[in-house]
Amino acid sequence: MIAPEKFFSGIGKRLKASEVRELLKWVKRGGIISFGGGMPDPKTFPVEEMKEIFSDIFSDRKLGEEALQYGTTEGYNPLRETILKMLRKSGFKILEDIENIVITTGSQQALDLIAKVFIDPGDVVIVEAPTYLAALNAFSYFQPNFEVVPLDKDGMRVDLLEEKLESLRKEGKRVKFIYTVPTAQNPAGTTMPNDRRKKLVDLAYEYDTIIVEDNPYGYLIFDDRVKFDYLGAFDDEGRVIYMSSFSKILSPGFRLGFIAGHREFIRKLILAKQAADLCTPSLTQMAANEFLKRGYLERHVEKIKKVYKEKKEAMIKALETYMPEGSDWTNPVGGMFIWVTVEGVDTTDMARRALERGVAYVHGRAFYPENAKELGKNAMRLNFSYPTIEQIEEGIKRLSEVVKEFRGH
Ligand SMILES: *Cc1c(COP(=O)(O)O)cnc(C)c1O
Repeated sequence: MIAPEKFFSGIGKRLKASEVRELLKWVKRGGIISFGGGMPDPKTFPVEEMKEIFSDIFSDRKLGEEALQYGTTEGYNPLRETILKMLRKSGFKILEDIENIVITTGSQQALDLIAKVFIDPGDVVIVEAPTYLAALNAFSYFQPNFEVVPLDKDGMRVDLLEEKLESLRKEGKRVKFIYTVPTAQNPAGTTMPNDRRKKLVDLAYEYDTIIVEDNPYGYLIFDDRVKFDYLGAFDDEGRVIYMSSFSKILSPGFRLGFIAGHREFIRKLILAKQAADLCTPSLTQMAANEFLKRGYLERHVEKIKKVYKEKKEAMIKALETYMPEGSDWTNPVGGMFIWVTVEGVDTTDMARRALERGVAYVHGRAFYPENAKELGKNAMRLNFSYPTIEQIEEGIKRLSEVVKEFRGH
C-alpha cells in the first residue's frame, strides 16, 4: 500500500483546492445561475477573425514552421514590439525597448514568477482588501506575511496605506512589494482616480518599495467619462512592475500575459520563466500579434464593452429592485465584477442555501489572506460578464430572496 502523503514536499502538503473551484463543481450540476466564475462572455470571442488569422499563418510555410517551433523564453519579438508601442502610448515612462518586456503564459504565470523572484518566507507583501484570489494563491507558496489595506469605492485607501507603511517602518519591517489592481478591480469592481495613483507611486518612493500593477481590465472601461493613467505614468525610477493579459480582451484559452518594467527585474523574471516552461506557445503569440497588427483589437474591445455595460446595468438595476435594506454594492466603470455587502449576513454560511435556490456567488472571505478573512464575512463577489441578461435578472431575484430569508433566522 502506498501512503501518498509521506512523499509530498512542504509546499505540496500545503496545497488545497481553491474555494472557487469547489464552487464551480456545484455549478456544473446544472439549473444554477452562476455569478461565481470569472469568465468572459464566450459570445464575444473573435472566432471568425481567428479563423482568418490561423489560416493565414498556416498558408505560409515559413510562418507555419515558426508557429510550430519552440520560441525564445522572453517571447515572440514582434509581439513584444507591439506591446511596447501600446504601453508607450499609455504613458508608461521607463520603457526603452523590448528588453523591458517578457511574455508570460497567462498573467497567472506572471504572478508565479513575481512570487519566485521577489518573495522570501516572512517577507511583507501588501495587498488590497479584498484582493485577487489567484494572486493570493500564487504568492502564498512562498510564505509571505500579508498585510492588507482596505478599499473604498475609489479603490485602495492610500491614506491607510501610508499609515501601514509608517507603522511597518517603525517596527523595522521592509515591504517587498505592494500588489494592486487599480482598474476595475477583481473582486471589488473599483477604479482608483489619478490623485490616488500618484500618491501610491509617491509612497513607493518614500518607503523604498515597489508596486506590482495587475491590469487585465484597462481596455474594458465602458464608462467613457472615466480617465486615468497607468501607475507607470507617474514613475521614472522603475518602481512599477506592470502586468497584463490577453485573457479578458481576446481569449483566456490563449494563455497569454506579459510583464513590463525595469530591465533588471525583467531579466530575472525571464530566468525564472526558463525553468518554469521554457517558452510561451509560439502559435498563440503569433496569432495575438496578428490580431493587434490588423487593427482588430479596437473593434473587438468596443464590442465587449457594449455587451458588458448592458449586463452591468442589468445587474445594478436588479440589485436596486430586489435587494433588501442594509445591502450595498459597487457600481463598476469597467471589468466584470460587482462587490455586494449585506449587513448581518454571513455570506459563507449563506452560500449553500443560495446554491440550493439555484444561484452561486463567491463569498467575500475568499478574497482575503488568512489573517484578514473576517473582513469579508458580509460580502460577495458577483460576476456579470458570463451570465445572460435574463439570468442576471432571475439570479439577483433569487439571491435577494435568499438574503431576506437567511436574515430572518
Ligand atoms: C482575469 C484576471 C487575470 C488574468 O489571468 P490570466 O492568467 O491571464 O488568464 C489577472 N489578474 C486579474 C486581477 C484578473 O481578474
